[in-house]
Amino acid sequence: MKKYIRSMLVFGSLVIIPALQTTAQENQKPIKTTPKLVVGIVVDQMRYDYLTRFWDHYGDGGFKRLVNEGFNCKNNHFNYAPTSTGPGHTSIYTGTTPSTHGIIGNNWYDKTTDKIVYCASDENYVSVGTSAGTGKMSPHRMTVSTVTDELRLFTQKRGKVIALALKDRGAVLPGGHMANAAYWYNGGAEGDWISSSYYMDELPRWVKNFNSSDVVEKYKKPWTTLKSISTYLESGADNNMYEGMFAGETAPVFPHDLPAIWENNGQFDLLRGTAYGNSLTTDFALAAIDGEDLGKDAIPDFLAVSYSSTDYVGHQFGVNSKEVQDTYLRLDQDLERLLEVLDRKVGEGEYLVFLSSDHGAVDVPAYLRDQKIPAGYMDSQGMSAKFKEFMSYTYGDADVIKNYSNAQFFLDHDVIRNLDLEVKDVQYKIGQELLSYDGISRVFTGYQMEHNEYNHGIPYIIQNGYNQKRSGDILLVLNPGVVYYPETGSTHGSPYPYDTHVPLLFFGKGIPQGSTVERTEIDDIAPTISALLGIAFPSGTTGQPIEEVLD
Ligand code: ZN
Ligand code: ZN
Ligand code: ZN
Repeated sequence: MKKYIRSMLVFGSLVIIPALQTTAQENQKPIKTTPKLVVGIVVDQMRYDYLTRFWDHYGDGGFKRLVNEGFNCKNNHFNYAPTSTGPGHTSIYTGTTPSTHGIIGNNWYDKTTDKIVYCASDENYVSVGTSAGTGKMSPHRMTVSTVTDELRLFTQKRGKVIALALKDRGAVLPGGHMANAAYWYNGGAEGDWISSSYYMDELPRWVKNFNSSDVVEKYKKPWTTLKSISTYLESGADNNMYEGMFAGETAPVFPHDLPAIWENNGQFDLLRGTAYGNSLTTDFALAAIDGEDLGKDAIPDFLAVSYSSTDYVGHQFGVNSKEVQDTYLRLDQDLERLLEVLDRKVGEGEYLVFLSSDHGAVDVPAYLRDQKIPAGYMDSQGMSAKFKEFMSYTYGDADVIKNYSNAQFFLDHDVIRNLDLEVKDVQYKIGQELLSYDGISRVFTGYQMEHNEYNHGIPYIIQNGYNQKRSGDILLVLNPGVVYYPETGSTHGSPYPYDTHVPLLFFGKGIPQGSTVERTEIDDIAPTISALLGIAFPSGTTGQPIEEVLD
């Protein structure tokens, strides 16, 4: 629908807006739906085709239930790059892109302090639930409100917001600035769920009880396949050269004997990289529903759950691995378990769920290359040697480059001015040099980003990821299938469909059954949820409510 609305704007007064021709029946529709609980589910690194590829293996109560009874946006995309976890979670919950919300990467070079910063870290707070530093987090780098914040404001803080994920950034950013709590996982010798003093001074009783229970211990067991591995026909051979191994393993194959490799892989941190990490997340989500009495009254609460293990498994074993397949089959069971509890405790039809992902992933480029598909790896060393030579030939000893990160070069504007040069000319000149290197398909400059408005294709995607205050001077786009990464496992970050195309499912109270192949974009999710609830849009919203979901 979005495209349709945009084309109407182009033709201005000539069109008759169909929405004005409402029938009496439509006028009687409730102005908002009030689910008792909204459950936002983000599956880290879930490509859209994981829904379709593993479909025949899924049970009736998980993914299939969400699709068959809910609404499936089949053509849902990230509309910015870099497609990574911090920006992904933020964009889903803020209804806008890094150009507006400011989370331009997981880590980025901060021009004002001349330091690398992490998207969720905050030295002003201390860890709660551990003596380690892993709890010093807050959403302070996110410069706009989230849909969860708007729910808190709308309900006079009577609606609760609880966010949780193994990854801190998968909980902190979705929870927003006003969350009652965000929790994440501290592995190592502890295997506990922790938080930050941003939210609380002490973990609540139910979290302490969960941590002292034996729930996490029970996952210290071999990772076997859920079904017979011979039925996993939708993925490649278990043992292949495109997969990484856990430390201490001699082949990347099932069963992965977790107790045997426990000490070599960070003890409880090992669970992150297995399907069990998602089951543990589900256990903790169920404990949160009970412990916080979520969905018990008429004022909507919000539970934001992010499943991180899918990302770790994808990074190690790759899109085409048996490990990824098993992880999704097990996640499907976890979703079924979650929905069953919601039916029982909140009531069938009384809650609203959306499920999406924070980015997709590329098939292992070495595998693609072997199948004759254009793909490969950046030769960082070769490129860096050639680039240094160019820089010293062109600018002598002057230290023009301050930082390179997230495929962006940051230049030292003072040094450039001292050379009596214009920043935009230096951006262009360096950009043209980089464009001549293998693997780089396009180069954009900050000047271009600030002086043009792109509305489709790769330039549009790059511009949505470009933040005037925070982004770099020269932005590189690699060729499709080309990455900076080891030759095993999958990664993400690009503006291409394998990274941008992710599921978007709505299910439950107020959601019609159906599907669309119209393009929807990741920043449409938050305004859609806002419109369903009748609450204000997050403060930076650039997306639009998805009309068919509101029918
Ligand atoms: Zn991610
Ligand atoms: Zn394997
Ligand atoms: Zn990742």
